[in-house]
Amino acid sequence: MTRRTACLLAALCLLVLSGAAQGLRRALIRSFFIDGPHGVAPVLTGQLTAGSGLAAAARVRVVLLDGLGREHTAGLPALQALCEAGLDLVVDVGFPTVSLPVQHVLWTGLTQQQSGIQYRVSGLDPPVRIGLPGRIQDSQAVAESHAEIVHSFAFGKVLPSRTQSPHEGVAWRHHGFQQAALELARSDVRLGFVHVLRIDEAGHQAGPQTASYRQAAQQADALLSALVAEDRRTHPAGGTAWFVLSDHGHRRGGGHGDAEDEVRLVRACIAGIVPTGPLPPGRSIHLVDLARALAEAAGVPRETEAAGRTLSVALDHPERGATLPRPSAIRWAIALLVLVASFALGVRAVPRAWAVPLWLPLACACVVALDGPPTLSSRAVYAPMGRNMLVGASPGLLLLLATMILGLRCTSAPRLATAQLALPVGAAVAVLVLCGALERIARLSLHPPLVPFWTGRASLLLTLCFSGAAVAALPVLVAAVRGPSDPSARAAGAGRGVSAP
Ligand SMILES: [Zn+2]
Repeated sequence: MTRRTACLLAALCLLVLSGAAQGLRRALIRSFFIDGPHGVAPVLTGQLTAGSGLAAAARVRVVLLDGLGREHTAGLPALQALCEAGLDLVVDVGFPTVSLPVQHVLWTGLTQQQSGIQYRVSGLDPPVRIGLPGRIQDSQAVAESHAEIVHSFAFGKVLPSRTQSPHEGVAWRHHGFQQAALELARSDVRLGFVHVLRIDEAGHQAGPQTASYRQAAQQADALLSALVAEDRRTHPAGGTAWFVLSDHGHRRGGGHGDAEDEVRLVRACIAGIVPTGPLPPGRSIHLVDLARALAEAAGVPRETEAAGRTLSVALDHPERGATLPRPSAIRWAIALLVLVASFALGVRAVPRAWAVPLWLPLACACVVALDGPPTLSSRAVYAPMGRNMLVGASPGLLLLLATMILGLRCTSAPRLATAQLALPVGAAVAVLVLCGALERIARLSLHPPLVPFWTGRASLLLTLCFSGAAVAALPVLVAAVRGPSDPSARAAGAGRGVSAP
């Protein structure tokens, strides 16, 4: 085979690899949002222990401060007062950290992996029949916006309507929502739910370190204060159990979805039903535990498969991260094997120190420096072309280009391409194995490939394979067109004192 043919073949393979990696990445991202099959319950210490649950309350009020990060709850007086009057908890909401699925856990007590409702952003229509809202006839929900979320559950009454026009949505937000929430606080319905969304919206716009986020949190706190005051005024004898919680926080630049502590661990307070105990604030439980407490307070039997423990048991056994999905040991073994084999293949192709694909760690480090870790909480992970990740990876891609241009002078294109791309491809395949993406994309499995942190990394590695193969193809194509001399022939010629053409 002539050098020109070898270059053409290598370029063709690189371009095919680039297209395949991009296609695989798009298929991976699409597969996030498809509901999975029912799964098994997590194993939590004491879940079979009866323990002493909460007594049923006359009324239960749940206020969800969507998107409020735990570290941003300081300086919210109404929330602080409720927490001090009862239990001040840290709740692990599970994974992914997306509002509708997290709320599904709250109402049903089933983890996302159990119910299969994992990364659902569109509403459930018809609403789910299981869970608390459908079991209580006089249950009511009021949402500030994104009404499709509350309409996904079988509340007896839901405001606003699912089919609100944008114009009606603005009017509702400014006038209707607060009035409807206050009316709910005054009412005698057994289960009342208020979903506040302005904090999450501010978090998405500019992140949680902004004045607009703080202002939204303070406005939500003022509403909470008004709700509690209204309840006390109309029910002076008490009897109302308050559950106030967030469903996720935001990462620094805004965004949520993955399992970062600042996103996944939220503050929650239960008041009006539990005495102020000797417990210090900040004790950790899981959302399924909170869901059980909520069902007990509402006087409704929990779902039979629900894994939540009574509060006393849960507080004694925090078991950090116990409800999160993890790669199995066999997946780890396969992934490591693929990684080692791909590294060996690259080294065997060009056994020189300069040919080690250092562009890969450089590109990864630059992406992390520019945009933070590639998790499901980062917008860059979902972008169709991964533009922000490509910008971040550019120093690594430039190093790859330079290595290819210089390397072609002393080795063949197929060998050089293998040395530079085998490890990135192996790393991408290894991560896809860890999150179960290959069998999902091949339709051999129905489980969405959602595993904390690894799914986000798969998007980055596939972006690097797609862009790296395209960048590596450029000098190879130029070499094929220009038809440079065979490096081995040049070396032999130099040995005989003859200059290469
Ligand atoms: Zn959000």
